[in-house]
Amino acid sequence: MEVVINNLVAKKGTKVSGYVAVPKTALNLPVTIINGQSAGKTVLITGGVHNAEYTGIETAIRLAQEITPEAVAGCLIIIHPVNISGFENRTMSVVAEDGKNLNRIFPGDPDGTTGDKLAAFLTEMFFKKADRFIDLHAGDGYESLTPYVYYVGAAKEAVVSESEAMATAVLVPYRVKSYLATSGAYNYAGSMGIPGILIERGGEARWSEDEIKKYQEDVKNVLRYLKVLAEPMRSPASKQLELVDVVYEEAEVTGCWYPNKKAGQSFLKGEILGMIKDYFGKVLQTSIAKYDGIVLYQVSSLTIPKKSAMIAYGKIKNDGDNTNEK
Ligand SMILES: [Zn+2]
Repeated sequence: MEVVINNLVAKKGTKVSGYVAVPKTALNLPVTIINGQSAGKTVLITGGVHNAEYTGIETAIRLAQEITPEAVAGCLIIIHPVNISGFENRTMSVVAEDGKNLNRIFPGDPDGTTGDKLAAFLTEMFFKKADRFIDLHAGDGYESLTPYVYYVGAAKEAVVSESEAMATAVLVPYRVKSYLATSGAYNYAGSMGIPGILIERGGEARWSEDEIKKYQEDVKNVLRYLKVLAEPMRSPASKQLELVDVVYEEAEVTGCWYPNKKAGQSFLKGEILGMIKDYFGKVLQTSIAKYDGIVLYQVSSLTIPKKSAMIAYGKIKNDGDNTNEK
């Protein structure tokens, strides 16, 4: 079947790349369609919804270049990157024209700001063509994290269970169920009936060949699970664990942030995870662990603005523990 995205037309068994204009904006998105010879699922892969999350963007760029239509059953539609104006203006992951966080404004608005229009275009032009969605992220420019994956958790049961199965195929140690139904790209797609995941790997505005290799394997293993790539699935180095009751703690004040742990480190209930101090060393806020858990991500910049993310952590779900079920 032919796959058409505006000016890009990919016939069966072909790969087509080019820019796709976002209506009523100056944005042109780099898009690659890899349309397989045989039938299968259409998978949307996006890098750079947050434009300073370079590991996800470079992974999308590599996948677009390296995967051939001969290897694909179904179709891959890759956007690399999504927030192109943020990328080219080197913002810290907001749309350059309006300062909006693209992952908080879905389904968007075709008559809104540039970011709203971009979100609306993605929803209309891309989500509606997709059977599955893989969104590639990292820690933001000022965040360090341990690799993990979110899956759609606020959708129909079949969508949630397929999203979880996709997450389990990602070669990262932890998965987290997301309870958002709108605002996030993959969350909104999930509410449209499209199973999806958001992978977190890398951060702090850095990328390396080693990380890109691992990240490509993450995505390819999901594509193997989906039978889009006809290769045997790889099993993870250790069994993936689900983290539940995730705490997303924000800064209550502006100041200097002093973390005590590293992303991926475990801690005990009551331990001090970090502090915000003023410029004279006076403690303004202390983060105290609510339970025994693991740090998912935390701010790694010295500065921390009031009401911004500070640290996120979760605890390992025990078998038979359904305290987080809704
Ligand atoms: Zn992100």
